[in-house]
Amino acid sequence: MDASEELLLSIKKFLDLQSSGPLPSIQCERCGSTMEYSDAHFWLYETQMQWTIPLPHCPACDPQPSAEIKPNLM
Ligand SMILES: [Zn+2]
Repeated sequence: MDASEELLLSIKKFLDLQSSGPLPSIQCERCGSTMEYSDAHFWLYETQMQWTIPLPHCPACDPQPSAEIKPNLM
């Protein structure tokens, strides 16, 4: 296995972890509101690997889910 395959596998492992399990209820650090989740889609270029990962955002502090934390948004 070469270095780039290893990198892909570790990314896959990380993203699999992120996209499994029940979503915890998170409080906003700034205002204490309950964070909402919105799905972000990740896709590794030139691979078949893709994920939908719920990213938390605060509806009070951040009404527009940030595009900056969504690389490869489809
Ligand atoms: Zn907030």
